[in-house]
Amino acid sequence: MNEFELIARYFARPVRERQGIGDDCALIDVGDTTLAITTDSLTEHIHFFPGVDPASLGHKALAVNLSDLAAAGARPRCFLLSLSLPRADPAWLDAFSRALFDLAGREGCELIGGDTTRAPSIAGQDGPVTICVTAIGEVERCSVRGRGGARAGDDLWVSGQLGDAALAVAHALGQVRLDQESARACRRRLDWPQPRVRLGLALRGLATAAIDVSDGLVGDLGHVLQRSGVGAGVNVPDVPRSDTLRAVESELQRRCVLAGGDDYELLFTASPDDGEAIAAAGRDCCIAITRIGTVTLERGLRLVGDRGIDATLRGFDHFAGAPGA
Ligand code: ADP
Ligand code: MG
Repeated sequence: MNEFELIARYFARPVRERQGIGDDCALIDVGDTTLAITTDSLTEHIHFFPGVDPASLGHKALAVNLSDLAAAGARPRCFLLSLSLPRADPAWLDAFSRALFDLAGREGCELIGGDTTRAPSIAGQDGPVTICVTAIGEVERCSVRGRGGARAGDDLWVSGQLGDAALAVAHALGQVRLDQESARACRRRLDWPQPRVRLGLALRGLATAAIDVSDGLVGDLGHVLQRSGVGAGVNVPDVPRSDTLRAVESELQRRCVLAGGDDYELLFTASPDDGEAIAAAGRDCCIAITRIGTVTLERGLRLVGDRGIDATLRGFDHFAGAPGA
């Protein structure tokens, strides 16, 4: 059973709200307002290396949630923070909270609650740090969008560049050797992702479907295609990547760019008639936006200019290969 089968089998139920499980955000109507709500956690050893800069953790814990709000075209409003820590370390907490509030201030959202517990130590070893943020944003009801609106004939777009965060992980694991400057740049992409909130707002009324790329392009595009009931062709050489990533050997490059994860860029679909407006939105937000393919009536994902999808190219799945999978 993989992560998504687990969610579908045990937790997905029909809901009376506007949108329940299966999208980047749940949507609930409250009076004239529609609220977008999302939650994501970071667990030591799974999502980050032990001893990582606490400032980057404070930033990233909120950033990954704001990225889900961006996909939904929501304006961030407030968030909750739940922490499980092996000890109360003032230096750690100071750096963590400063970076958290820096991003919150920039994006105009306030911390309104949470929970704090001590992580148990097991056999003399510290339990893992776990950070869970729940973010709440507001969406305009007339421009609600999710993963399910892609139509055959739409263009497929992605913001920024993909793959550098995964390259940073490969470097940290000794799978590739990068020079110091390149390693530092990739590590920044991994530790300090920039949620594309402004772009998400600028794409209201333009993007027919959107998702944030958190688990790798192939896996996350798969969610859009499945929910929209369509397929797509992606021109792999067009998928934007850094010069550092272009310089690494082709198999690792392919894995990072197509299945890397931790990119937090927006992947979205739009009518070809809106190409100019989309380019303008990118310019307004000072972010490169690249057309990487087309949505097709024929189901499935075709990777053009590449040798196709194999088992190594699935999106990140917490339970793939685990006992009981
Ligand atoms: P994202 O990568 O955008 O955070 P996920 O891929 O983690 O989204 O989750 C897919 C969908 O499943 C989302 O709608 C999420 O809210 C939902 N989901 C994940 N875990 C659970 C759970 N334990 N109970 C209910 N819904 C869940
Ligand atoms: Mg998401």
